[in-house]
Amino acid sequence: MTSNKINPTQDGIKLDISKRGWNHTPDKPIQLSPLFDWPPTPLKVIRWVSKSWINISIRSAMLGLSIITWFFLQPELTRVATIKFDWVAEMYLRNLALMIFVAGGLHLWLYRYRKQGSELQFDTRDLSKSSGRFTFRNQVYDNMFWTLASGVTVWTAVEVITLWGYANGYVPYLSWNENPVWFILLFLLQPIWGSFHFYVIHRILHWPPLYRIAHSLHHRNINIGPWSGMSMHPIEHLLYLSSGMVHWFIASHPVHFLFHMQIKALEASTSHAGYQQLTITNNTKYDLGDFFHQLHHRYFECNYGTLEMPWDRWFGTFHSGTEADGEQMKIRKQRMQAKQ
Ligand SMILES: [Zn+2]
Ligand SMILES: [Zn+2]
Repeated sequence: MTSNKINPTQDGIKLDISKRGWNHTPDKPIQLSPLFDWPPTPLKVIRWVSKSWINISIRSAMLGLSIITWFFLQPELTRVATIKFDWVAEMYLRNLALMIFVAGGLHLWLYRYRKQGSELQFDTRDLSKSSGRFTFRNQVYDNMFWTLASGVTVWTAVEVITLWGYANGYVPYLSWNENPVWFILLFLLQPIWGSFHFYVIHRILHWPPLYRIAHSLHHRNINIGPWSGMSMHPIEHLLYLSSGMVHWFIASHPVHFLFHMQIKALEASTSHAGYQQLTITNNTKYDLGDFFHQLHHRYFECNYGTLEMPWDRWFGTFHSGTEADGEQMKIRKQRMQAKQ
């Protein structure tokens, strides 16, 4: 227990400090990225960067995927200069296949065939099979529908417009030869921009009118699975994926942009997987789910951002998974309710 444990009777508020019923949690408190620590901690930064980029990780896999996509799965720039049905359909089918492979593959492995049982699973409650909260009264069908019908469509639309923009010189183009250092740095900067952008749009989405219209659809999921990540209202898809539109203003190569979009679309599935790691064998495990965001789904008023930038710590909404932070959050919530 940390030293700043809250007195359960503080402010006269009765607090429930009962166990929260997680099947598994990562080491607590959750560690945020050290990139913004002051004073700087260079060794920690090196460890953080190499953990996310050099080891086999979601991010390094996405980097590999975006390079493969650019060389083998992307219609050439000369073709995409004019909008035509054939290449738009190719990109749509490619993205559909990628989404089904990642979200569907994880779902089958973890939930349908339960290949690793409840090992490293945060919350073992079943995904809902009969609830009026969900389209088709079924959480997985609901999540698949919004992911595939709206998510893949908006994802592809942003890619189509941007690739067409590269081909016609409307989107600024950067080649490797022009500036190799900046070319590499642009990959490294993507998660930092993505974290800032996500924090801002996520706070906007929690503004009550927009929450009711759009974001509540994503929050139908209190317990989450791989299909929940991109299960959003079309308005949220557009806001969420507008992160990639930064390439309309900053010179980059299409491979940077494809990487950016694939991280946004596919990492949503891995981060919502509900398991800390994917266990292939006893010795082969890969980091997967994001307990930090899982806490947001269970408690709402915390962890709006990502681990990459400490926005939640700066604005007092960070929940590190400890009981002390849980109590802090309840007090904050009750104070807000008292003000209303
Ligand atoms: Zn939210
Ligand atoms: Zn979520």
